[in-house]
This record gives sequence, structure tokens and C-alpha cells, in this order.
Amino acid sequence: MANYYQKEIETMSREDMQKLQSEKLIKQVKHVYENVPYYKNLMDEKGITPDDIKGIDDLHKLPFLTKADLRDAYPYGLLAKPLEDCVRIQSTSGTTGRRVVAFYTRKDVDLWEDCCARAIVAAGGSNKDVCQVAYGYGLFTGGPGLNGGSHKVGCLTLPMSSGNTERQIRFMTDLSATILCCTPSYAAYIGETLKEMGYKPEDIPLKAGIFGAEPWTEEMRRGIEATLGIKAYDIYGLTETTGPGVAFECSEQTGMHINEDHFYAEIIDPDTGEVLPEGSKGELVFTSLDKEAFPLLRYRTRDICVLTRKECSCGRTLVKMAKPMGRTDDMLIIRGVNVFPSQIETVLLNEGYQPNYQIVVDRVNNNDTFEVNVEMTPEIFTDKVGEIIAMEKALANAMKAMLGINPAVHLVAPKSIARSEGKAVRVIDKRKLI
Ligand code: ADP
Ligand code: ZN
Repeated sequence: MANYYQKEIETMSREDMQKLQSEKLIKQVKHVYENVPYYKNLMDEKGITPDDIKGIDDLHKLPFLTKADLRDAYPYGLLAKPLEDCVRIQSTSGTTGRRVVAFYTRKDVDLWEDCCARAIVAAGGSNKDVCQVAYGYGLFTGGPGLNGGSHKVGCLTLPMSSGNTERQIRFMTDLSATILCCTPSYAAYIGETLKEMGYKPEDIPLKAGIFGAEPWTEEMRRGIEATLGIKAYDIYGLTETTGPGVAFECSEQTGMHINEDHFYAEIIDPDTGEVLPEGSKGELVFTSLDKEAFPLLRYRTRDICVLTRKECSCGRTLVKMAKPMGRTDDMLIIRGVNVFPSQIETVLLNEGYQPNYQIVVDRVNNNDTFEVNVEMTPEIFTDKVGEIIAMEKALANAMKAMLGINPAVHLVAPKSIARSEGKAVRVIDKRKLI
């Protein structure tokens, strides 16, 4: 039986949702226009005033905001409330450049935690659960967001933060944690450690995991589910909009429901800015409909994905986003071909490897070099050179079939690539240093 945290919103008819979104948008545009000179200037340049926005269908008239605007306006330039009304600051992880900061009023924290609570309930969580939060706590939004959601649901919350894996496992087993929240790469690492310690999936008390904050493939999901003996749910978010919980997965596991009563999603062509119809692949753009302190309008996330309104078996009517394929800015262009790390990961898991790899790109004599270092698993470990060369060749061929270009694959010893307790570092692009 499907379970909801805020049933009325999560199962609202399309018509009522659009009405709610329109009402909120009209108010929000006024709020931003009157309180954020930076955005007012952008609107003035486009010749738009709040009177031009009569509902959600007028959203496309508004200018976009980009990460560059956030960096430009750092730290207070996009703040829409006096600092006296703000109670929290969080910051991005800085995966792709300088960190940006976001501000929250008490109401903003509250709605953010509601979103995380919806995610936990959708993953089967209730006040009978012990929820182990192994996302980092601090400026990173993962720990604080899921911690707040877990409280709202009434779970017994274990605020572990990331790292110290042996302690994670001791608390998980001693205190019978049933839900684990962390990045997928850390979940894989915890699973690997449990396996080495002799735990079988049925000995592990967990029943569900809520994993996000970085891209991960279906193959990686299946691997984590098998090792930990759980159902693994995806969760998506970004600091600029709040943090995790902007979108969350339900039991159907075919994409994440967007909390569109708070965050309105559009898909645009990243080159032209044109809004694309449902089902098209493009860049995800979010508008905060009711955040007070840091309400971004038409914020370009650079995440590439697809939206769908196909009926969902869980009963939720919230629009769904597919797993992001990666970001426009972590797409590598190697010898003119687009390569996403997620494609490499898919090949590795299909070929029986673990997602422990690193892509190294460089430029030598004006030609791109493309190497993929992949760990051997203990099961296939060998030191016979002939066997290693044959395995490397097979893997390179499988990658060529997926990508259209040929990498140099190097198999390396098990455990020789650093594990991540937060977001994994998959790419070393030395070309940027030139
Ligand atoms: P940074 O942009 O510095 O990494 P954040 O910590 O706020 O800052 O991370 C937000 C970004 O993380 C998103 O824009 C997206 O690229 C990525 N992300 C978050 N959740 C997911 C997910 N479930 N799947 C894929 N990518 C995700
Ligand atoms: Zn659903």
C-alpha cells in the first residue's frame, strides 16, 4: 500500500496543482522583483514586469539564472529577505568550481525538511524505523536535509555524518538501522566493507537506502541492492533550490517525483534556451515557487534529463524526472565525441566490474588521450600479464561499442583507487590546466 507524507499535495490533480503553482508564482515574482535588485535588473533588461506574469504559463517570459550569476552575486546579491529573518546558510560542494552559498528562513528549512520527509515515507519509512544519515553534515546539504526529514517522519535518527566506516557498521548492526541515507558511492563502499567483514545481505538489518547527490547508474543500483539486501531509492536536489529532496523516488523506481508544489521544473535546449515539450532530453531548470530567502527563478541546473507525466503506480501525480545523465559541465568532449562518466560506469557493471574507476584525459601533440583506470575485483584478480592484457582489450572494446571512441584501459589492483565518503571523483581532465 502506498504511503504518503503529504497525501493531498502528492496526489493532487493536475488542474489543482497548476492553480496552486500559478498563485505561488505570481506572488514569488513580485517578492523577487521588489527585493532582489540583481534579478530586477535582469527582468528590466528583458522588458518584463511582475504584471506580465499571470500564471505558470507565463514563466517562459522570465530570464534565466545561471551558476555564473550566483558566483557574481556572491554572497548576498540574490538574498530576498533581511538577514535577521534568515536562520541558516548552506553551501554547494563545489564539484565544478567555486562554492556558492544559499540562505534559509525558518519557513524555508521547514519546507525543505517536508520534501525530505516525503522521500523517506516513499521509501517505506515510518516512526518504527531507525534512519542512519551518513551524508556529510555541515555546509553540505545532505546530512542536515535528511536529518530534518527523518525527524519529521518520526524515525529514530542516527546522525552519523560520512566517514569512519567501521563505526558506521558497528552502529548500523548494534542499533539495527533500517534505512541508510548517503551518496551511492559511499553506500557501495559500506557494502564492500560489510562483505569483507563476512556479512551476508540477510545479516544486515537495513531494508532501504536513500542515495543521491551524485549521478549513479541502474547497474550500480542493482549492485548495492544485492550487497546490502535492500531496496535502493534515488533522491535528487541541489543547494541552490534547498538541497536533497527536490525530487525523490517511489516504489516504482522509474524516475523521481519532483516536489513541484515548491519547485517548478522545465526542460530547455541548453544551446538555445527554448523550452522543450514533455519527454525531450535537455537541461533541467527550476523555479522556487515559495522559498523566501533565496528564491531562484528559472535557475539552470546544468543537469541533463527528461520529464514525464506518465501515470505512476504509487498514486503520486507529481511530475517525474529521469535519473540525470550527468551535467552539461561534466560531459567530456574527447576527440570531438561526447562522453559521460555514467556511460563508462554502465559498461563496467555490465562486464562484471565494480564502479571503482577513474577517467584521465589529457592532450598530447594536439590529440586527446583517453585513459580509463579500472580496479580488478578480488574475484578476477590476476598478475598474469597475458590475462590482464586480454581483459583490458575486452573492456576497451565494450567501451568503444558504447562511446564510439577507443579508450586505453588499465586494470589496476583491487583497492588502489581512493574510495569516496561523499561525492566520488571520476574524472581527471588535465587539458583544463593548459
Ligand atoms: P555541487 O554543484 O557543487 O555538486 P551540490 O552539492 O548542491 O553542489 O550538488 C547538486 C548537484 O548534484 C546537482 O545539480 C546534480 O548535478 C547532482 N545530483 C544531486 N542528486 C543527484 C542524483 N540523484 N543523481 C544525479 N545527480 C545528482
Ligand atoms: Zn511514483
